[in-house]
Amino acid sequence: MSTAAAAAASTDPCVHCGFCLPTCASYRVLGTEMDSPRGRIHALKAIAAGELELDATTASHFDSCLGCFACVSACPSGVRYDELIEATRPKLNAPELRSPAQRAFRQLLLALLPYPKRLRAALTPLRAYAGTPLQGLLRRSGLLRSLPAPLVAMEQLLPPLAAEAFRDGHPVVVPAQGERRARVGLVLGCVQRVFDPGVNRATLEVLSANGVEVVIPPAQSCCGAVAHHQGELAQTCELAEALIESFKAVVGPGRPAGPEPLDAVLVAASGCGHTLKHYGDLLDGASGATFASQVRDVHEFLAELGLSESFRARLRPLQHADGQTATADNPVLVAYHDACHMLHGQGISAEPRTLLRAIPHLQLREATEAGVCCGSAGIYNLVQPEEAAALGQIKAADLQGTGAELIASANIGCTLQLRRHLPQVGETSLPTPTVAHPIELLHRSARGSQA
Ligand code: SF4
Ligand code: SF4
Repeated sequence: MSTAAAAAASTDPCVHCGFCLPTCASYRVLGTEMDSPRGRIHALKAIAAGELELDATTASHFDSCLGCFACVSACPSGVRYDELIEATRPKLNAPELRSPAQRAFRQLLLALLPYPKRLRAALTPLRAYAGTPLQGLLRRSGLLRSLPAPLVAMEQLLPPLAAEAFRDGHPVVVPAQGERRARVGLVLGCVQRVFDPGVNRATLEVLSANGVEVVIPPAQSCCGAVAHHQGELAQTCELAEALIESFKAVVGPGRPAGPEPLDAVLVAASGCGHTLKHYGDLLDGASGATFASQVRDVHEFLAELGLSESFRARLRPLQHADGQTATADNPVLVAYHDACHMLHGQGISAEPRTLLRAIPHLQLREATEAGVCCGSAGIYNLVQPEEAAALGQIKAADLQGTGAELIASANIGCTLQLRRHLPQVGETSLPTPTVAHPIELLHRSARGSQA
């Protein structure tokens, strides 16, 4: 780990004004000062002054933080709470601060989620269950409620597992269609490629159709975001170095993707993008900073490059769920969900909306609390299931209240959380929106298929 990552940010600029409190997701559902940014900053000052011990109780108030960074966006004094919590998280992993069951569950998640081969092996027996009538039956029966809360949370987030989820199968190079405008690498994301593989497929096709050649290192694993979010810095750095090496293994003279350098390294999951952009802080030496300087969120990159004329000419109105094609008088209503690691972590909000507006007869609707976390936050919805569920319900109601029939979500964690908490058809009088990635919507529009 680099010295930059190890250095703790200062609590000094905090003037305890409380402007950050209304934006704070944990304060929203727990309502206690200790579970707010201001309270945690106060606790950090007291710990530094030797007036407060970092024991299990104090640690639980840091564990309740989602790491959403809404407080950083809200703070008028420029307090870098993101750096404060990142410097604190590794200390929370001391064995005496969590129960054996909590430690074992976290270890299980960190041993599975960042490793697609292991995750696929663990999920294989569930293929006959996930997304089938049996799953619906068991959920309705109430039998699952007898399981421990974290297992119930896992089951409720489990999406249908397509055959595509169990293989990567992408070529090392996807050529640009027409004149080549750029050459990029693509990070697939460890959870995204398994739980929503259609997103990477759509991303490849949209990029290629826009004249972008895409290089996909076949040996790439996780970017380290899951471990980074939990303060497991040694594991984060190991995964980050392996990812950088996987790109070096395919780009260069005599290598499968050829010698030409990449113009950018793209990712279509904002939680990953945030960590990838921090490789310079996480890794010693120049390679982390060099790699990080190339990283772009796919929306950021495409909005900057501009959709090609030929791609724009292919865009058709989406269809409503009933099969009717959207028109000027009857547009498809879409609410774009701002993922925290996109909005607060990377400052990206206009670009996905700009791309979505390129789809004919698509009308964007805005949630009233767009900047508040949905409760997903890495593995938060598994290790803090009650708080996460409360936040998921608030976010789902806010998005559904826009009247949108589609929610556009550019982060796999948020997507799973929203699908879990949006009411099922018939549960409310409002239409039940479905959730898709913005690039999937562009892809559908270019193919002229159903919303
Ligand atoms: S973190 Fe910023 S907004 Fe929050 S109390 Fe401190 S100074 Fe105010
Ligand atoms: S990161 Fe999010 S949950 Fe944590 S203190 Fe800031 S606003 Fe609250």
